[in-house]
Amino acid sequence: MSEYVIEMNHIRKEFPGIVANDDITLQLKKGEIHALLGENGAGKSTLMSVLFGLYQPEAGEIKKDGKVVKINNPNDATELGIGMVHQHFKLIEVFTVLDNIILGAETTGALGFLKKKEAREKVIALSEKYGLKVDVDAKVEDITVGMQQRVEILKMLYRDNEILIFDEPTAVLTPQEIDELMEIMRGFAKEGKSILFITHKLNEIMAVSDRVSVLRKGKYIGTVNTKDTNKQELSNMMVGRPVQLELQKKEAHPTDPVLRVEGLTVPSKLHKNNAVEDVSFDVRAGEVLCIAGIDGNGQTELVYGLTGLEKATAGKITLQGQDISKASIRQRAHAGMSHIPEDRHKHGLVLSFTLEQNMVLQKYKEKRFQNHGFIKFDEVRKYSEKLIEDFDVRSGQGPITVARSMSGGNQQKAIIAREIDRDEPLMIAVQPTRGLDVGAIEHIHKMIVQERDKGHAVLLVSLELEEVLGVSDRILVMYEGEIVGELDPKKTTPEELGLYMSGAKRQEKFKKGGGVDA
Ligand code: ADP
Ligand code: MG
Repeated sequence: MSEYVIEMNHIRKEFPGIVANDDITLQLKKGEIHALLGENGAGKSTLMSVLFGLYQPEAGEIKKDGKVVKINNPNDATELGIGMVHQHFKLIEVFTVLDNIILGAETTGALGFLKKKEAREKVIALSEKYGLKVDVDAKVEDITVGMQQRVEILKMLYRDNEILIFDEPTAVLTPQEIDELMEIMRGFAKEGKSILFITHKLNEIMAVSDRVSVLRKGKYIGTVNTKDTNKQELSNMMVGRPVQLELQKKEAHPTDPVLRVEGLTVPSKLHKNNAVEDVSFDVRAGEVLCIAGIDGNGQTELVYGLTGLEKATAGKITLQGQDISKASIRQRAHAGMSHIPEDRHKHGLVLSFTLEQNMVLQKYKEKRFQNHGFIKFDEVRKYSEKLIEDFDVRSGQGPITVARSMSGGNQQKAIIAREIDRDEPLMIAVQPTRGLDVGAIEHIHKMIVQERDKGHAVLLVSLELEEVLGVSDRILVMYEGEIVGELDPKKTTPEELGLYMSGAKRQEKFKKGGGVDA
């Protein structure tokens, strides 16, 4: 009998123009938690999709318990006891939790309703046994992402899967939920289930895994025992060069408020309530203020309200002493605000324009780029070449590359280059490092701190705890559209931050008077 439950040998999977998996080997031992580490685009999800039968590899073989198997589709994978929790959940929103779990695995019989009762009992038993709290009768659209994930896990258990694939399961969870998930994974491993755990978060790998395999740009770099390695070695393997993990920055010396927000209220597009409710804060020159929170707690709408992308229904916004509450997007930008938007495709770039055109979107009317109404193309070219150089923006054809054809990370770097170079007193940066690799993150964090050190005010909106704690000088936590806590990154912990993010904790000064739903 083989030492390995699963072996993937010399796997190759191509997509048009890219080899996503190039001769990859992965060996999974029974009862281990095996982490798969790699930057965005390294090929992790592709490899797991091959194992789950969603893709057919061009080369290579898969063995289960030492025997070569052919996995043509997810049903074959299920037959072999392989289950997968996808990066983007695949639940049906209008179905109940129970129906989602049993969907596709219904035991058929003339007395269908009796079978459903059995199914229900099995699901409840599993959920109790593993501490996976769910409400089986709730509709998926009404439950939290954390619970949706538990539904996905129960789906695997319901099918008696013994090999469990988790594709970036922690990206959407609070710190408490992450701890719970780790505990659950440990429990599975103890029972002899074998786990593949995809992540690019080194803390999680160190906390829970037995071994780690690293992929880089579609290639297999190596496998190490977790107890014999450390975060620095892993990140160097992942990126391919030494990475400075901890951001070096001096103490902040904030001065006067640059941005003052008073009672800002922004309606929600999706629901009837307000997405942002009566929010007040200042951002001072020389500080990075971070708005932390779980995705969907009003951070997006707060920024829309500040930048003018959405109309606020109440409140006052003062920038550099000027009331901009009613100003247009362009007026606000000119009043001293730069913006690295959350949605780089919608608000960051004109995808059909070239890189150099995108670089001068707000600037082309300036004297240096215009002569009697004619654009000075050579000046635009020179300017964009300098930004491309300074910010290491990589693309096929330099300034004349069409933005659409660039990778997400480089599109983001282009936006950041443009916005930082505008040199405004306030920079609003929304998830500036989302989707970027460790090396690019290092670079962007340094640039944010440089902005601060120039005496600019920086408002950073981030979902990444490490970013929140590593970059900011002051933290405000948003929960259900309101500020619920103000924390000092030097004094707080991820756990404490998590309590505020999940609504479990709220500081006295942010409590509502008058006993409205607290
Ligand atoms: P990871 O999960 O490590 O972030 P992926 O496996 O998702 O990486 O992607 C690896 C590479 O393959 C990326 O460059 C990605 O753009 C590309 N890719 C992934 N899926 C597809 C697809 N269905 N079609 C085309 N290209 C894809
Ligand atoms: Mg992936």
